[in-house]
Order: sequence, then C-alpha cells, then structure tokens
Amino acid sequence: MQVQLPDGSFKDVPNDATVAQVAESIGKRLARDAIAGKVNGKIVDLTEKVPDNAKVEILTPKSKDGVDVIRHSTAHLMAMAVQELFPGTQVTIGPVIENGFYYDFGTDRPFSDEDLRRIEEKMAEIAKRDLPIKREVWSRDDAIKLFDKIGEKYKVQIIRDIPGDEILTIYRQGDWFDLCRGPHVPSTGRLGAFKLLSVAGAYWRGDERNSMLQRIYGTAWSDEKELQEYLKRMDEAKARDHRKLGKELGLFHFSNLAPAMPIFLPKGAVIYNELIDFVRSFYRRDGYSEVVTPLLWDTELFKTSGHYDNYRDNMFFSEVEEREYSLKPMNCPGDIQIYAMERRSYRDLPIRLANFARLHRYERSGVTHGLTRVRSFAQDDAHIFIAPEQIQAEIERELNLIKEIYDVFGFTDVKIGLSTRPEKRIGTDAMWDSAEKALEEALKKRGLSYQVNPGEGAFYGPKLDYQVTDAIGRPWQLGTVQVDYAQPERFKLTYIGADNSEHRPVMIHRAILGSLERFIAIIIEHFAGAFPVWLAPVQAIVLPLSEKFLDYANDTAAKLRQAGLRVEMDGSNEKLGAKIRDAQLEKIPYMLIVGEKEASSGSVSLRKRSGEQSSMSVDQFVSEARRAIESRALTL
Ligand SMILES: [Zn+2]
Ligand SMILES: [Zn+2]
Repeated sequence: MQVQLPDGSFKDVPNDATVAQVAESIGKRLARDAIAGKVNGKIVDLTEKVPDNAKVEILTPKSKDGVDVIRHSTAHLMAMAVQELFPGTQVTIGPVIENGFYYDFGTDRPFSDEDLRRIEEKMAEIAKRDLPIKREVWSRDDAIKLFDKIGEKYKVQIIRDIPGDEILTIYRQGDWFDLCRGPHVPSTGRLGAFKLLSVAGAYWRGDERNSMLQRIYGTAWSDEKELQEYLKRMDEAKARDHRKLGKELGLFHFSNLAPAMPIFLPKGAVIYNELIDFVRSFYRRDGYSEVVTPLLWDTELFKTSGHYDNYRDNMFFSEVEEREYSLKPMNCPGDIQIYAMERRSYRDLPIRLANFARLHRYERSGVTHGLTRVRSFAQDDAHIFIAPEQIQAEIERELNLIKEIYDVFGFTDVKIGLSTRPEKRIGTDAMWDSAEKALEEALKKRGLSYQVNPGEGAFYGPKLDYQVTDAIGRPWQLGTVQVDYAQPERFKLTYIGADNSEHRPVMIHRAILGSLERFIAIIIEHFAGAFPVWLAPVQAIVLPLSEKFLDYANDTAAKLRQAGLRVEMDGSNEKLGAKIRDAQLEKIPYMLIVGEKEASSGSVSLRKRSGEQSSMSVDQFVSEARRAIESRALTL
C-alpha cells in the first residue's frame, strides 16, 4: 500500500504497516528519533497501524506536536513517581498546557518543595528504567472494576462520564497504568528534559463544592538545551512580573474591600492618565468626540442591547427605588443612546464617540489575575457610526492610527488576524461579502500582512485582532476593530440618506490599547519597569551631594517642575552612592547630581538610568528632557 508524506510525495509500505515501520522505510535516523505519528491529522502512537493512502507525518521531539506528546508522557511519568513515593495518592487528570503539563492528585498531604525535588529524582530514575509504554483497549465494565479495586475513585467517575460508544484505553509502563487516550512516547527512556515548577490547590472538576486536589505543574522539552532556555525565559518573565514590579515601584494596590479592582497609587495614576492623554491627542486630528456617560444604568438598556440575556452572569446589579440598575460591562449601549438622541443625516457620518469610562465585569475570584484579569477597568474605547459604504475608508484610517500608537511603545512585531463570518450569524451574505471585502481591501491598501481566521468572527460582524510581541518575545492580544450590524438593528438606529429615506448605520467598536489595566501590565513587563521618559512617574530626581547644597537642589527641582517635568529631590542624609542606588531601583530616567561646582555655575551633573553621564546647564537639561518627552522617545 501507499502513504503520503508531508512533502506531498508517496511512499510504498507493507500492508498494515505501523507508524514506526513507515518511519523505518523513510530512514534509520528518523526511525530512531520518532516518538509518535500524525495520521490523517490525528496524533497517534508509533504502534498504530496506518490505513492505505493515509497522510502520515512522523513526529520527532523537534516538532510542536512531538513536544506535546513528550509533555503528556512526562505527566504520566510524574504520576507514576508520585504513586511510588506516596502510596495511596489517587490520580485524576493530567493534561498538557502551554509549555508544560500538570497533574491533579487526590491526597490529604500537600506536596512541599522538597517533595517536588524527590519526585523529580524518582522520575529521572523511572526514565532510566526505559520502561516500554503500551496501549491496551479495555471494556467499560472491566475498566471500572480495575480502578475500583485499586481505590482510584476519581478514575471510576471519569470512566462513568465517558460516552458509551467511546473506546477506553489504558497506557501501561512497568506495573503502573493510567486511563488515557494517549498517544505516548514508546518508552520512558525518551523522557528527561523536564522540571517540576510548583504546587497549587485545585478543586476536583474545578468546582469549589468538590474536594481539593493537589496540582503539580511541570515543564518538559525536547532536550536539555531547550529546557534551560525556557527556564531562563521564565526567570526573566518572573523578574518582570507586573505584580512584583507594581508593588516595588508603588504603582498599584489591591484591597480586600474591592477584590480584583485595581487601586492606582499616585505613581500608577500618572501612567494611567498619560496613556489616556496620549490616545486622546490623536482624537482631535482623527475627528473623534469624547463623551462621558454614567456607569450605572437602568437594566432596560441592557435588555435592549441583549447583554441582560446573554451577559448577565458577568454583570453587577443593584436596586434603587424599585428600579433595577446595572454597572455597565461595556460602553456600547450607553454610547448608542447618544447617537439615538437626534435625527442623523448621512452628512453627519462618521460619528466617532470615544469613551474612557470605567467598566465592571464580574469574574470569578479563581480566574482574576494581577492587572490582566480584573473586575474593574477602562478601555480606550470608541464607537463609530457609519454608512455601510464607509467601512473601508474608516478601517483604513483606523489601521493608520493603530500603527502610529503601537510604534510609540516599540511594538513593531504586529500580527493582524481577520476573522470572518461564523456559521451562526445575522444578516445577509451580501452584507458579509461587502464588510469582509472592505476589511481586506483596507489591509491591502495599507500594505499590511494579515491572517484570515475563517469562521472566527462574531455573529454580528467580521473583526480585526492585533497581537504584539513584547521585549522578551511573548505575544499579547491587544487591539480589536469589530464591525457590528446587530446593535444598530436592536436599537433601531437610523440616518437619513442622500435619497431622503431612512437607512440603518453600521457600528464599529474599537479599542487600541484595549483594557488600560491590562495594557499597563503589559508595558510594565515589556519595559521591565524602566518606562520611557514620557511615561515615567518620576522623570528626574535631584541628588544634592550634601546638606550644603539643599537650597540649590530645591531651586533646581522647582525650575524643572516649572518646565513641566515630574521631579523629586532626595534631601536625605544618605551617601550619594546610596541615593543613586535608590533612584536606580525606582528606575528614574534622569539623576541630577548637584554639588559645589554645579551650584556655582548653575549646572547639573546628569547621570542617566542607562549609566551615561554628562554635565550641562539646567536649561540645557530641560530642553533635552523635553525633547525626549515630546517625541515620546523609547531611549533616553
Ligand atoms: Zn494520560
Ligand atoms: Zn462596544
């Protein structure tokens, strides 16, 4: 029989050949490296028989799918090690996650860091035993009996919940086995580049009414070098963690009295407001009008918008004077009220309403995280009302604006996704045709590359999504531009066309930075807390060499404040070295050291955060700093 290889070529193989035999027929080396296969798009064991004419790809540890197989097999390796070390511990599930895996164990005894080291050692030992990993097909009743007998009550529950017609498989290595769909590497000897990272409590099936399990997180890679590189990246990310830096730099705080609702401290509020001013500075040029609308609305509004029916689990409610109110989870319905206030003509369009209001969305306490997933946040939100034929021109303008804004942060590695019509949708095909075409034409006209995500659009219109890459190579989802045909319909919005009759406008929802809270988290990590001068909460600090120069230091600081800079003066009795160290820890861009020489000549000795040093007059420094601020320079 024949199989088709990834390069499109065909290969003759014996009838009933396994994936391993196909690998063998391609080459000795590939057969040695193979850990699994992909047959007609499905990842399978090396022992799987290949049907005639199948598309076959041999997976080695070097491929992404191959690494995932390694990760799941490493999760099994860990579960076996845990049960050898801690008999009586029950196994539950152990899926692959980004960069690694976890496994949830039923045990009364929480695992310590010391336990993790012991488990790692045991894993290495089992890997060395090079136990073959074998797949067995079991009947449901036998499988239940098997796990019941050894007291694995979670596994029994899992089997009971598997649909009746599904084939049950068990993977065995040595005398240990686990209920599992697979696939797995052929033997434990193929595993080794792993590390256990942390332990956390997790409820059985994610439900807090169930018992608490112990979840061990681990990472696994194709080889030791990749593992070490990953651990280095993790250390780097840890050092940049916005929760850690936010605390150290005094940017924000969380209170038990407002769970998952960030409190921006004076320094964090500087960044928050600078970002708003920055985005706002484009609004005059681009013809936006900023509006300010209530946070609390009668729920009638959200009944019309559909949020009450479809989004109420994420909304906060209150009742006053027997009327039901809700905090708005998004700005759109309120902004629509402004459009609907007046009779609109085609000559008024586009109407661009910008809104920086705070929004509230209920998120379960288990899923909130730092500034990236919160219950209270603001967006650089805008709602644009246009005639259908204006979509392309409007999107072109928006694409330019987004590029201008991202460039300022050094987000030049940008990926744009175009999500098109899903199966369940409103509107006619002609409507979707023209909207999708308008988005594509706009992208092409701006010379932007993009990826089409077929069927990923919302039911009410196609959209563009932006993903940027930060300074340490991590991708972040940022802006969205969403075409919406549904809300204008629900609120019966109209405008009078050139033909003097009523038409339905199209609405565009768009955010460029997205949630300001989340964006601040991203740039804290992107800049590692060392913000460009325009964003730095404290832009310069004056450091007098001794008490003798306090007056001159104060005068200098006052002069700089007069010039609009955010300045501090360190008048403490500390030695200069200690003052510089403190300023470095605060990541202040400019340190201005003043002593005898500076006081007598009206100058400052400038020491930049980057370590560069020079001497200049106060006026010269002011113009240098202002240049950096006004140009929003990324470097000092
Ligand atoms: Zn498994
Ligand atoms: Zn909206």
